[in-house]
Amino acid sequence: MGELQKSEEYLRRARRVLPGGVNSNIRLAERPIPLVFTRARGPILEDVDGNTYIDYVCGMGPIILGHADPRVTGAVVEAIDRGLVFGGTHLLEIEVAERIAAAVPSVEVMRFCSSGSEAVHAAIRIARAATGRWKIARFEGHYHGWLDTIYIGEPPDPERPVAPAVPGTRGQPRAALQDVIVLPWNDPEALRAAMQMYRGQIAAVILEPILCNTGVIPPRPGYVEAIREWCDRDDAVLIFDEVITGFRVALGGAQSLLGITPDLTVFGKAVANGFPLSVVGGRGDLMEPVASGAVLHGGTYNGNLPAMAAARATLDALAAGGGAAYQGITATGRALMEGLRNAGAEAGVPVLVQGPGPVFHMWITPRSSIEDPRTARTEGAERYAAFAEALVRRGVRPIPGGRWYLSAAHTAEHVAQTVHAARDALVEVRNAFPASTTAGTSSPR
Ligand code: PMP
Repeated sequence: MGELQKSEEYLRRARRVLPGGVNSNIRLAERPIPLVFTRARGPILEDVDGNTYIDYVCGMGPIILGHADPRVTGAVVEAIDRGLVFGGTHLLEIEVAERIAAAVPSVEVMRFCSSGSEAVHAAIRIARAATGRWKIARFEGHYHGWLDTIYIGEPPDPERPVAPAVPGTRGQPRAALQDVIVLPWNDPEALRAAMQMYRGQIAAVILEPILCNTGVIPPRPGYVEAIREWCDRDDAVLIFDEVITGFRVALGGAQSLLGITPDLTVFGKAVANGFPLSVVGGRGDLMEPVASGAVLHGGTYNGNLPAMAAARATLDALAAGGGAAYQGITATGRALMEGLRNAGAEAGVPVLVQGPGPVFHMWITPRSSIEDPRTARTEGAERYAAFAEALVRRGVRPIPGGRWYLSAAHTAEHVAQTVHAARDALVEVRNAFPASTTAGTSSPR
């Protein structure tokens, strides 16, 4: 990486008119500074100083085919020539819905929105309307958007398996959290205790079926099955938040990999390769009150032509050849995971990499696996942040917190370059943290 002079200049200018100089708080964490970009194509990003980066942020998940994929861009250009929003139904909406229903059998009917947060909001409303109950059970470390179910968990207390939720941001109504139950992830006993304690009160249990937001932590064998069973026993709605995993880990989402059928699913991100689109859908009977108008769902931009055209082109590309793209993305992701482990071994820095491949998480730690979001959040965080910064300076852009996203545009060559940069960056980290790199200590949050 060369100079960041223009990025610094633009950032100063941005900070005068955009809080923090960014438009989503997660971007505040980027080091050495939140960079200012000009263009992206395939797996490569370019900043205002002309530096290029192999990009593993992938727009925070939506970029599954690669940036500015010509199939998607071409379809969008063709569509917007006919208009942007009709405020009425059009053929592309039907075609996208048909494709999603074919790819994900649990999603019989669906509605479109623009962001994951609002589609989660809709799913929760639909579940509450269907059950006539208010409580929502969710899991520690899972993220379901920035709206009012955001919480901070209390430290785990064996006497009290259900952590009380504390507002996760200033300005959040406490009342919204009174109906939120936060459960530890991957803990069947706490699940049982909560489902019995709140029998007949839980409208929905919502989860990331493969946790991606706080480390990438798959469910233990049988755990999601147990959640499904408890929901059935208590007539609670099971909501899979597949905003990250949907159309990323497989065409049928995490639910197809786990073999579990949720009642409602939320998609976003990868479904339209970067165009703003989210989906809430599922069982026809649950969605019926939306059709009758009894449950309100609205949105000026819902089903807009560019998002629909992008989704149709993306879904067609992903479904081609029986979903062959996923074999490629998964193989490239796994090669990179293995490469990062080897880079750690060569640099003498203990590295843990876990996840399905198209998305994975990396820690600097001697642990052999991480199953607890609390550990995932803090383990080796300071050293990892230094590593991520060292990578950026070498032309590789990971997410500072440890998650990596792959796209179909990443090749073996990009992986090789990344592994090479990672080895050098890990040596730099080893030298900067000489005593602690092998100790496996956690840094504070
Ligand atoms: N759910 C999950 C699992 C997510 O990862 C995200 C975003 N990272 C959201 C919901 C919210 O989506 P959006 O940022 O599009 O509102």
